[in-house]
Amino acid sequence: MTEDVRVEGDMARKQIRVVVLGAGMAGILAGIKLREAGIDDVTIYEKADRIGGTWRENTYPGLTCDTPSHHYTYSFARNPDWSRYLPPGWEIQQYFEQVTEQYGLYDCIRFNEEAVRAEFLDSRWQLTFKSGLQDSADLLIAATGVLHVPKMPAIPGISDFEGAIFHSARWDHSVPLDGKKIAVVGNGSTGVQIVSALVERASLLEHYQRTPQWIMPVDNTPYTAQQRAAFQDPEVLEAEMDFENFNHAVDIYTQAIIDEHSEGATFMAAECLKNLEQSVADPELREKLRPDHKPLCYRLVWSPDFYKAIQHPHAALVTEGIERIEAAGIRTCDGVLHELDVIALATGFHADAFMRPMKIIGRNGVDLDDVWADSPKAYLAVSLPDFPNFFMLNGPNGPVGNFPLIAIAEQQWRYIYQLVAKLRSGEVDEISCTHQAMERFEEERGAAAKKTVWYNGGCHSWYLNAQGVPASWPWTYSRFLDEMKAPNWEDFECVGKA
Ligand code: NAP
Repeated sequence: MTEDVRVEGDMARKQIRVVVLGAGMAGILAGIKLREAGIDDVTIYEKADRIGGTWRENTYPGLTCDTPSHHYTYSFARNPDWSRYLPPGWEIQQYFEQVTEQYGLYDCIRFNEEAVRAEFLDSRWQLTFKSGLQDSADLLIAATGVLHVPKMPAIPGISDFEGAIFHSARWDHSVPLDGKKIAVVGNGSTGVQIVSALVERASLLEHYQRTPQWIMPVDNTPYTAQQRAAFQDPEVLEAEMDFENFNHAVDIYTQAIIDEHSEGATFMAAECLKNLEQSVADPELREKLRPDHKPLCYRLVWSPDFYKAIQHPHAALVTEGIERIEAAGIRTCDGVLHELDVIALATGFHADAFMRPMKIIGRNGVDLDDVWADSPKAYLAVSLPDFPNFFMLNGPNGPVGNFPLIAIAEQQWRYIYQLVAKLRSGEVDEISCTHQAMERFEEERGAAAKKTVWYNGGCHSWYLNAQGVPASWPWTYSRFLDEMKAPNWEDFECVGKA
């Protein structure tokens, strides 16, 4: 999907040192692409002891990616060996480990180093790590992920519970689950997957639902040995990926977000409702599961088996509000105490964290916490004025939705590399977007975001920022691809001559 980007002046090579923060999908991509461009002085700092980001941190039972597996790969490292259409988390983790190994990237990754401060002084980034380590770089790339700070619910008495209680992204694998009374709080993509995975193992599985979700059915039968053997042929694999149809589906999805009356929106609503009507037998349960907001207002949940799981004899859907957590379990607002052994909190993430709590100080002492005091913003999700030579992969307000984040990061890299090449050419010492460019972009983006179903659909999803404005790309995916082709140089401020 990405092609190699060559930029005028790219041949004149100034030596630059690059630091990448995070060794998840995007950080690994940056490392590979920097080396491919001949930039060898690269260090990727990772706060944990393994690569993988989301796929390292999330290990909950049932963890699955809802992007088709063959599209959930780097364009330059396809994987014919996926076991099924929607791959399990451990397989994705294994894929990233293999790619990191294959591209010889481990020697530039420093594990267990959490960056706590970066300051731009004399055209260089000065970095401080929790361990006390110091480093500096000409270029800083933040590849720190979007959903990585768990959101603990503000439920009174949470610390009183005498059983096991943990967030879905901090799964405690030492806790026995078989034959236990388990509660899953939350029914986003995560909660739904956990319920499906645990219902047969638990003696009782209570699913606490505050807002019913639109559930899109999906077939996730494993690939046969013959199919996997056939995928070894790149042409067969490409045919399986069926880019034309896939891109069309992505366009329909984005159209449905932009225009709730679009054909795609009507189609998706009808498919989800048919799924509900045909899969859930008990009318009372069906009504409890019927969404009360517009489709795609929340991120669409894909599941091959959730409706089946919630009708299992061990399952109970709890729609009564949670009053508090007590030593023995959850007390709901109707006064009932639900006795439990395990409470899994599938309550989501702080979607506005990005690099933070790290402190980032740009030119002339500008503090990122002040720039982002209201909510995170960035020009085209990649650059910030006053923060020269600093670029983000999957930064604020980019197209995070039901799209393959890898393809998004590759497109962003393609764009960022053209800025990096300018630095590397020696023409400039510092490059960042202008204030006008970011403000103009954010104004247009905010106005468009208010026309989407995220804003008008009657929900309060993690897409909404602190001002209630959707913090995501409010236009088509095609527009994103167009924007990422090449920088509009008038929107960038270049300083100095090396
Ligand atoms: P989420 O979509 O933010 O859902 C959080 C859930 O917790 C919601 O159901 C919410 O209810 C509930 N909740 C929060 N606080 C609560 C409280 N105090 N009491 C009761 N319920 C509470 O989080 P997520 O399911 O972890 O998913 C986050 C994102 O991760 C997804 O949208 C997706 O982008 C990504 N993800 C992707 C996959 C994948 O397959 N690729 C899998 C998992 C996650 P309300 O809706 O009423 O607020």
